[in-house]
Amino acid sequence: MAQAVKRQKAKKGTSEPKDIIVLEDVSKSYSTGAPALNGINLKIKRGEFVFVVGDSGSGKSTLIKLLLRELLPTSGSVMVNGQDVVRLKRRKIPKFRRNLGIVFQDFRLLKDRNVYENVAFAQRIVQVPTREIKKNVPAILSTVGLAGKYKAKPRQLSGGEQQRVALARALINKPSILLADEPTGNLDPKNSWEIMKLLEEINEKGTTVLVVTHNREIVNAMKKRVVTMKKGVIVSDEEKGGYIDED
Ligand code: ADP
Ligand code: MG
Repeated sequence: MAQAVKRQKAKKGTSEPKDIIVLEDVSKSYSTGAPALNGINLKIKRGEFVFVVGDSGSGKSTLIKLLLRELLPTSGSVMVNGQDVVRLKRRKIPKFRRNLGIVFQDFRLLKDRNVYENVAFAQRIVQVPTREIKKNVPAILSTVGLAGKYKAKPRQLSGGEQQRVALARALINKPSILLADEPTGNLDPKNSWEIMKLLEEINEKGTTVLVVTHNREIVNAMKKRVVTMKKGVIVSDEEKGGYIDED
């Protein structure tokens, strides 16, 4: 009986709530300085596309790190995909993170491995059989427009191509949420647009996408939900919003 109850609870814990991300009264202080986040309340629905904008130092990366459980909040509650991230046991963190794809400004590829290996690696660590990997990697590389570049090393690719590899790696395990922390920060306008369009396509296929960016032009053109942060606080949250001009 106890077992059955426990199993049911476990199942409930992993059910799919409508709000895939819920932060309630979240604050985060590092050992020095003002709080990086100060009373954040934020709900993101399954399948949404959200931009997070704000000056450097406003707490955007801290927010991403809380969602990944790289950091714990000083206070407040962080729910991701129905899981209480604060209470998550250490041994359950790897499985929890499998459901999150992440890309960064600086790509973070393995420099001595080729494109195929960089993407395949994400599947090897979760023990996908090699014959599956051989099917999955070409499929995801063609989704990001990189078919035919399997053997290139990162240094042989443009910034835009490297970010596509990073995106393929983030997506290959089919995460329900894709987090991107300034993914176009190192790219020229053309490549920035191409990456953002890819993120939009990925979102249209069902993945929840949260993008931290400084790219004013793209944010204003794409008409998505825009959450604006300032000094650790959300100062605006608008459907089909734009970049708030303070200059
Ligand atoms: P953003 O990504 O919006 O630029 P961050 O979340 O990186 O902002 O930083 C928010 C605030 O927290 C900044 O004042 C920053 O200096 C501080 N901060 C970030 N990481 C640390 C850390 N590891 N130790 C101390 N302070 C930090
Ligand atoms: Mg940052």
